[in-house]
Amino acid sequence: MDDLCRLTISELAGLLKKREVKSTDILNSYIKRIESVEPEISAYLYNDFEEAERNAEAADKIVSSGSDYPVLTGIPLSIKDIFLIKGKKTTCASKILDNFISPYDSTVVRKLKENNYVFLGKTNLDEFAMGSSTENSAYKITKNPYDLNRVPGGSSGGSAASVAADLCAGSFGTDTGGSVRQPAALCGVVGLKPTYGLISRYGIIAFSSSLDQAGILSKDVTDAAVMLEAVAGFDEKDQTTRKFNIKKYAEIVKKADKSILKGLNVGIPAEFFSDGLDPEINSKVSEIKVLLKDLGANIVDISLPDTKYSVSAYYITATSEASSNLERYDGIRYGYRYNRKDGETIQSLDDLYRKSREAGFGNEVKRRIILGTFALSAGYYDAYYKKASLVRKLIIKNYKDAFAKADIIIGPTSPTPAFLIGEKTADPLSMYLSDIYTISVNLAYLPGLSIPVGAVKNPTKPDGVLPVGLQIISPWATEDMLLSVAKIIEDEVKFREKIKK
Ligand code: GLN
Repeated sequence: MDDLCRLTISELAGLLKKREVKSTDILNSYIKRIESVEPEISAYLYNDFEEAERNAEAADKIVSSGSDYPVLTGIPLSIKDIFLIKGKKTTCASKILDNFISPYDSTVVRKLKENNYVFLGKTNLDEFAMGSSTENSAYKITKNPYDLNRVPGGSSGGSAASVAADLCAGSFGTDTGGSVRQPAALCGVVGLKPTYGLISRYGIIAFSSSLDQAGILSKDVTDAAVMLEAVAGFDEKDQTTRKFNIKKYAEIVKKADKSILKGLNVGIPAEFFSDGLDPEINSKVSEIKVLLKDLGANIVDISLPDTKYSVSAYYITATSEASSNLERYDGIRYGYRYNRKDGETIQSLDDLYRKSREAGFGNEVKRRIILGTFALSAGYYDAYYKKASLVRKLIIKNYKDAFAKADIIIGPTSPTPAFLIGEKTADPLSMYLSDIYTISVNLAYLPGLSIPVGAVKNPTKPDGVLPVGLQIISPWATEDMLLSVAKIIEDEVKFREKIKK
């Protein structure tokens, strides 16, 4: 029973269906695991075992009633602390939202509730999802389960670590420039960033509205399909969602057969294999290239020539939009308000805004608000935001040209494996470069997925290894193919059996 927490969602759902276990048994296994392992990982900002017990008991009633029920019924999940859950704290890992209680449910959470899931707790993140290591959280540093001296990646680092360390069965995160895929790669789990507009963002705290998308972190590809199916779809509360034809992803993935690789054109972008890529990661990714070729795929060399501009275009776009989205945290309407010291007078409303924001936001958030405000300011708009939007058009065109030759694209998810805590904090630019392969996917509104395909030696821990992620990118709204190809690679690599801790 103690090992239930190690199973995938589909395995757990199978046991529940056969009535071999109850949701409360599954939950108890997670509670035990969280009590023993979470103190060293710090994946969660908070757990809510009382709520989880209520959810599990309700799920058990539904299962025993004998009627049909959704697959996520009774499955314990964690949620990045950027999704609103009515009546629960949502901090976005910022002091400015320290005491913020969500007034309503995000659409993702509403759907999870309709699926009778079990809410285990809120996971840690970089403040307002700005970062690649989860070190920008105002509350705690999450550790990589493969090496506690290393980062789990970010910004959904708490979610990735919670899945990797078996502290939940799956997790929901967000991906604006790589925040689901990069931590998934660094922690050895599956990370899916769906097509922009496939999952509603209603009730997800906004960072950069033209890039933000909800994403999934799971133990395997089948679970990613199950979780996607549960939350995808048009939502009248989010104007950016589209009326996509939501497929039966889980069934499609179950049926995925190697034969789909026969004659499939797999694009290898030259720009993803140049300077800055760790040679060991390069060789792991190249092994997959050989594997796909052996299974009948055509390997095609392609070019995404404007990749070199993607980090700059992203950081102008994302900071500009963030400076506007974060304007609402003024100390009046939300969360933290500056407390006047004895004898101090607040000079004006502006003064109160300034003092509340000064004390409430962390350094990285301030850096981005300043950058973004500058990029949008009169006289500079054309030189920065507008130019970044034009570069974005080029990147979209790069992918369009690439998909004329390739059905899917593969490459590394991250240029390096998990780095040491503190290694990049003094140099924001080197941190920004850890997103070099993931950012352009958001700029082009495309779906991308990271799967663990192996591990490299950990240079600072004898006998230790660090996971390596492969990124697969597919055309707009082709998650069915993306997940199917990923499933075939997963079955060949067998990361969970061979490498997972
Ligand atoms: N690491 C990137 C950033 O800092 C991406 C973050 C994200 O996807 N939320 O902006």
